[in-house]
Amino acid sequence: MVCRYEEDLKVMIEKVRKYTGSGNVADYIPALSKANPHDVAVAIFDGSDTCFSEGEYRKLFTLQSISKVLTLALALMDYGEEVVFNKVGMEPTGDPFNSIAKLESHIPSKPLNPMINAGALAVSSLIKGGTNEEKLARLLQFVRELSGNEKINFNKEVAKSEFETADLNRSLAYFMKQHHVLSGDVDELLDFYTKQCAIEVDCEDLAKIGYALAHHGEHPNDSYSIIPTEIARLVKTFMVTCGMYNASGEFAIRVGIPAKSGVSGGIVGAVPCGIGIGIYGPALDEKGNSVAGMKLLELLSTQYHLSIF
Ligand code: GLN
Repeated sequence: MVCRYEEDLKVMIEKVRKYTGSGNVADYIPALSKANPHDVAVAIFDGSDTCFSEGEYRKLFTLQSISKVLTLALALMDYGEEVVFNKVGMEPTGDPFNSIAKLESHIPSKPLNPMINAGALAVSSLIKGGTNEEKLARLLQFVRELSGNEKINFNKEVAKSEFETADLNRSLAYFMKQHHVLSGDVDELLDFYTKQCAIEVDCEDLAKIGYALAHHGEHPNDSYSIIPTEIARLVKTFMVTCGMYNASGEFAIRVGIPAKSGVSGGIVGAVPCGIGIGIYGPALDEKGNSVAGMKLLELLSTQYHLSIF
């Protein structure tokens, strides 16, 4: 099949832009409410020299929940499966990403999976490093390597804005501390978690990260291993079962690409052994996924037969 990404992407962006009107930008993290709800952008990386990009693809946005994929990979590389899955489960949930309900109803009190906030907080508590600065430096190095972009950093304003308003996440962490899922200082953990979520990228960075995951964890340009194959496989499986929160089932049916979204409106997609996809569209549906971004992924999947199923 001859790929005409440039023309196709232009047409697709115009088709999905109308959906931006039916969503809202996240405002529970005040700094995120500054995003333009009508932005929509895509980048595709197929391993050649450049990305194919359309829309407002140069705009920077924060990873938010997309970071959960990366901290999971790092924690698994640091400790292995036994330690990580002693703290966090492997099952999807029908509850919202920030829900506390299952922590109380499931005994022992262990978060269901690493893609919901409770699970991600438990995983973040595992990242190795003497101080939060060291932990963050390791995570940033990892993200820079995966994307091939040395300039990636975190957005201080977004991190501060979330830290100051993260009472729900704090309560999840305190609950888990009481039940010995976590140890240590909760505000220290929140400091790291909010900075991790505030790591700033553009669509092309995301497409390259998706490409590395799609290709068994190999460096996008130099084909050496950044993430062991088995961990890349495991992470992609979580992206399929839990990556779009409690919309993961419908997304698997409509799109069928391992993907992870964030409340900034970003979505990373990793087509196994195929392209990496980076999406941005800050207008979200009620479950916290980019409305136009999900439509765009559906169009891409249909047009290029990308579903893994
Ligand atoms: N930082 C956000 C939070 O913890 C991430 C959530 C998300 O992107 N779904 O609420």
